[in-house]
Amino acid sequence: KSDLVIVYHRLPYEEVVEDGVMKRRRPSSPNGIIPTLLSFFADGKAGSWVAWSVHDPKYGAFESHTEVDASRYPRLVAARVPLSKRDVDIFYKKFSKEAFWPTLHTFWERASFRDDHWQVFLDVNRRFAESAAAEAAENAVVWIHDYNLWMVPAYLRELRPDVTIAFFHHTYFPSADVFNVLPWRRDIIGSLLQCDYIGFHIPRQAENFVDVARGVTPLEVTEKVSCAPRFFTYGCAVGLDEMSAEIAVNDRRIRLGAHPVGLDLKRVENALAQDKVQDLMKNLRSDLAGTRMMLSVGRLDYTKGIIEQLDAFETLLDEHPELCGKVTLVMVCVPAAQEMTVYRKLQLQIEQAVGRINGRFAQVGWTPVQFFFRALPFEELVAYYAMADVMWITPLRDGLNLVVKEYIATQGETKGAGVVVLSEFAGAAAELRGPILANPHDPKEMVNSCYLALTMSRDEARGRLKEALDVVRHNDIGMWSNEFMTAVEDCRPEQGEPS
Ligand code: UDP
Repeated sequence: KSDLVIVYHRLPYEEVVEDGVMKRRRPSSPNGIIPTLLSFFADGKAGSWVAWSVHDPKYGAFESHTEVDASRYPRLVAARVPLSKRDVDIFYKKFSKEAFWPTLHTFWERASFRDDHWQVFLDVNRRFAESAAAEAAENAVVWIHDYNLWMVPAYLRELRPDVTIAFFHHTYFPSADVFNVLPWRRDIIGSLLQCDYIGFHIPRQAENFVDVARGVTPLEVTEKVSCAPRFFTYGCAVGLDEMSAEIAVNDRRIRLGAHPVGLDLKRVENALAQDKVQDLMKNLRSDLAGTRMMLSVGRLDYTKGIIEQLDAFETLLDEHPELCGKVTLVMVCVPAAQEMTVYRKLQLQIEQAVGRINGRFAQVGWTPVQFFFRALPFEELVAYYAMADVMWITPLRDGLNLVVKEYIATQGETKGAGVVVLSEFAGAAAELRGPILANPHDPKEMVNSCYLALTMSRDEARGRLKEALDVVRHNDIGMWSNEFMTAVEDCRPEQGEPS
């Protein structure tokens, strides 16, 4: 039994079947959350990690508990929830991505809602809750992650009234106008109100949650805190002076907080120290042959604004022909799993746009858009970060965005003077000082902000980078986990006090 139970949909390692035997390896798809959560256990802290594992009786008896990595996380155990391939396909690849993801990111008209899929979602969430209940020691903290597990608090509270339930919402949380479109909003909010503590990246997301909850049940805001100085109090990403820090619903109190996820800065530093990364940086420098690099990195997803970037880059070259041959856009687009048919059309549109731009502008020795349709290992990515003159991150909506912070950290380590163009609609825009902010829905502003970034003086670029670096270094992963856990501890009942 553990005093700290992490409940996350995926295991911290990947399971693959090779030669008829189930093997494990490091996760191949890039994921900002797993290393972040793992680093929480690096100092030998004990815990359980509840996650699904695809169970196929072909590969022998199911092992419900395995170690994660005895050398790096000696006291962390994985508690595997056996799911069939069909469960995973419906619960994660279809329902979560087709119903919840678009709605959360304010693209509700793209969402499809099926009650039979909701039933599978409920069943899977119940099984996660049962596993968490079995792992938790008396009065343990159970820390549930993200919207895939929205219904776990409701089931868990019934099974284990004693535990402290903490929830962190890793994605954007939309306003009530959008969230209320979800047919199951009452069940979802009812479940989240069983938590003791709910964390979001930024105040706007917490406040949106309060508005949604108010539409479902009478509630009282019992504590408010100022958003300043940690967050901006103006701009699309926040636009708030104060946020609710505690709400009361009937006789339950739920505390809320804004905790933008931070980086494991050592991971960036270690990557940069590797010989192969240094070699790659040298090769990139010579391949770029004096041209400036704009870098865009993100998953293949309509929320990431990739088409909008390609359109803006084409206009930039049209309006500033002097940039032809001088600026290269390197675009890293991480494909979605094959089964996620929802992304196929977008992939085609992106490939067409890249082909069109390269067809129009390429010269011997210069390809305007270098497009990588694959995930780069983190070390390779860091070499690109180090060499990029402009980091261009303009999602249409994003809970936070770790890529932008990784770029800033890398520039700091390499004494670079890179410029960041960041979407106002990324959570990171509420936290970071220094980036040029842009509205990705405004084609003119997209072009102008790129031009400004490419022509900015080195002094101004260094000044802005320093401001951004101060935030990235201060709000690192240690800060995130400590602040979150301290906030959770603060809302636990005193020993002997009824919960
Ligand atoms: N990433 C990677 N290789 C790639 C592209 C991205 O390792 O080719 C990693 C990146 O380092 C970051 C994460 O994927 O840590 C993406 O996190 P972010 O918050 O920016 O976006 P998300 O995909 O979670 O929406």
